[in-house]
Amino acid sequence: MDSKMICKVCGLDYGDYTWGKDGQTPSFEICPCCGTTFGYEDATTDGILRKRSDWLEGNGKWFMAKEQPSDWDLETQLKSAGIKR
Ligand SMILES: [Zn+2]
Repeated sequence: MDSKMICKVCGLDYGDYTWGKDGQTPSFEICPCCGTTFGYEDATTDGILRKRSDWLEGNGKWFMAKEQPSDWDLETQLKSAGIKR
């Protein structure tokens, strides 16, 4: 797993570079899990923490519900991404 493919907000393994291969070039694509636009909400640490707390307040609801894997588990994702709530 490449950490550059992990959503900085929710820890989803996005499967593609969220901020480019160099980590400097946001794709401006949208995380299907938390709804972050790579390059906007995740551009600063404050932004990441704010967006994450909003998302967690909503119990980690998927932004694109149809994309949610049936075996997805919020705690597992947070744990594997090293995110503490
Ligand atoms: Zn996300």
